[in-house]
Amino acid sequence: MFYVQFIEIVNMNQSYIINQLAEDREKYFHAVAPPIIQTSNFAYPTVDEFTFAIQNEKDEHIYTRGNNPTVNMLCQKMAALEGAQDCLMVGSGAAAISNSVISQVNAGDHIISVKNPYTWASHLMTKILPRFNVHTTFVDGTIFENFVNACKPETKLIYLESPNSWTFELQDLAKIANFAKKRGITTIIDNSYCTALCQKPIDFGIDLVIYSATKYYNGHSDVVAGAICGSKEKITQIFHNEFMTFGNVLAPQNAWLMLRSLRTLPIRLKQSSESTVKILDFLKKSPKIERIWYPFNDDNPQKALALEQMKMPMGMFTLALKNRDASAIKKFCETLQNFLIAVSWGGHESLIMPKCAFVSENDPQVNMVRFYIGLEEADILLEDLELSLAFL
Ligand SMILES: *Cc1c(COP(=O)(O)O)cnc(C)c1O
Repeated sequence: MFYVQFIEIVNMNQSYIINQLAEDREKYFHAVAPPIIQTSNFAYPTVDEFTFAIQNEKDEHIYTRGNNPTVNMLCQKMAALEGAQDCLMVGSGAAAISNSVISQVNAGDHIISVKNPYTWASHLMTKILPRFNVHTTFVDGTIFENFVNACKPETKLIYLESPNSWTFELQDLAKIANFAKKRGITTIIDNSYCTALCQKPIDFGIDLVIYSATKYYNGHSDVVAGAICGSKEKITQIFHNEFMTFGNVLAPQNAWLMLRSLRTLPIRLKQSSESTVKILDFLKKSPKIERIWYPFNDDNPQKALALEQMKMPMGMFTLALKNRDASAIKKFCETLQNFLIAVSWGGHESLIMPKCAFVSENDPQVNMVRFYIGLEEADILLEDLELSLAFL
């Protein structure tokens, strides 16, 4: 069923976006692969042309902190994939978070955020923004009314992450966006888990969609990058303010690597998703596992919402092992031959992130292990899991 859905979204002219859009080959010797315009600045033959370019910095080329042709090609493709009017590429997902959030608030304003957002989003809202008198209320985002109840006259921003990347709680995007619009509140979603291929928040009315492009979009564990997608108006405003001031620029070389990564995004996601479904079918039957967090699992009370908002299964889930002994859990993790112990996810390689690396041995979450399924053959991963689970 998921497979059929997947084919449908690939047919939505994503092929054109990924392979043709913004590729002006006549400008570069009909080369199939685009050039890396590795330059910091751009020269003009006349003062008048220079003046015109400076007055239109976002669309012309003045200086690579603003606009660079290789980076711009990527921005156009990312915006089109998102169904957004415009996109800014930045140097990391954290930069996408900080630039976009700060762009929407002034001193005295209030933010409502889902509880436990990505670590550095949380740091921004709990440690940095309070220094400028911007305060945040964190709510359980699975319940719509929590947003309504947390709303104050000075609320300017609702910050979402659906699903989040440990326990995969969702928010009802259409309902929240509709409520926010009526109150003049901006909505931002960190859509890194889904990518535009799985979930299009703009269709639900969300204003700004941000990414850690380090994860699925780049997908080869060799570039750190971020993206901010939204209306022309909002993106232009961010460009002239936070983007140019904070200067978290994505280098042309890294934009080029990302352009290359985009060519294979649909097949990478397809492989990871199909393997994940197979692996989950196996894990669901294992007597060694207490619980699995995954949006499409039958025991997820938000499964219906996941099916409504997300177009396909993605490659990350969390297990709670029955065995709570930290040394046994470590042994399990270290025995897995095809899963690296590491942060991040979305690359070619399968990963695990054991909670016991971060919490004490008595912590109630000590038995949680997050899995990311990469591009290895599913059977190899299954065999590996079967052998290692035997240690528990
Ligand atoms: C990794 C991650 C980020 C941060 O992105 P970087 O590219 O590492 O700065 C933000 N949100 C989510 C959900 C992530 O997984």
